[in-house]
Amino acid sequence: MAQSLDLAIRGALEERLCFYRDLGLGDFYRRPVDPALLAKLAAAAEAQEIPAPPILASEPGELSAAPIQGAPSFPRSSAERAAELTTSQEGPLIPPRKPFPAPPQISDPLPADDRAAALQLIRDEIGDCTRCPLHTGRHKLVFGDGSPNARLMFVGEGPGADEDAQGLPFVGKAGQLLNNMINAMGLKREEVYIANVVKCRPPGNRVPEQDEGAQCTPFLFRQIDVIRPEVLVALGATAATWLLGVRQPLAGLRGRIHPVRGTRLIVTYHPAYLLRDPRQKKEAWADLQIAMRELGLKPPARG
Ligand code: URA
Repeated sequence: MAQSLDLAIRGALEERLCFYRDLGLGDFYRRPVDPALLAKLAAAAEAQEIPAPPILASEPGELSAAPIQGAPSFPRSSAERAAELTTSQEGPLIPPRKPFPAPPQISDPLPADDRAAALQLIRDEIGDCTRCPLHTGRHKLVFGDGSPNARLMFVGEGPGADEDAQGLPFVGKAGQLLNNMINAMGLKREEVYIANVVKCRPPGNRVPEQDEGAQCTPFLFRQIDVIRPEVLVALGATAATWLLGVRQPLAGLRGRIHPVRGTRLIVTYHPAYLLRDPRQKKEAWADLQIAMRELGLKPPARG
């Protein structure tokens, strides 16, 4: 029987999962829970013997409503946890992750004057896209925005509600912060190019599924090839994962240059994460300074 979560627990859980996601930690799987155990815990919580059951296991990468009493003590080795995840008798086996599809071949550079038309051709080819299930909830497809001759290109995860309504990337709260970041680099938004891993809003702003990213990223790669930015900035773990074709926590990817499609990729935090944890803005600024150094930019004088 489906159990609904207490609203406070649900909110806390969502926040925690967003935090893990921003750090590039995932995927998370939910295992079926023994209904008898749930009933016992609920009864105990009602009798206020113990607080409501902790929903999040003590380590990222594993989401469970594991029993409190009699639970195995943590930490367990990752080998133990992996074995448990794949051989658990409690529920269906968790399918192995699909590999990333090979990105399209890098196309030849185009003269600056031809780039706007080349982007339009890609947009036309996408058309009224129904290649993945995301189209069912879409209001507007968010192709990308900015200068076809940008020296700097940002890649986010996927449109949110504001972007879906307007058909433009990063126009909501996270977009305002991104605009501030761009301005702090001494650039105007119109001078850069902004796109996302997926062009249609994932429901509830969830992380795009593997199949959705696999359908959509070939178009992103072609946009990158047309624009040929000198520097590419991945905003958050999803963008970094798809641009690099490897899943790795964000922390291990920041602070250095990754060669990607003939350009230089820098990885930083997603602005939405920075809105949730403004203390990390300093770190993001350090990342953007790497981009500025590569572009030969100096921050504008404050006045
Ligand atoms: N978050 C993203 O990743 N992309 C957008 O366009 C807006 C918010």
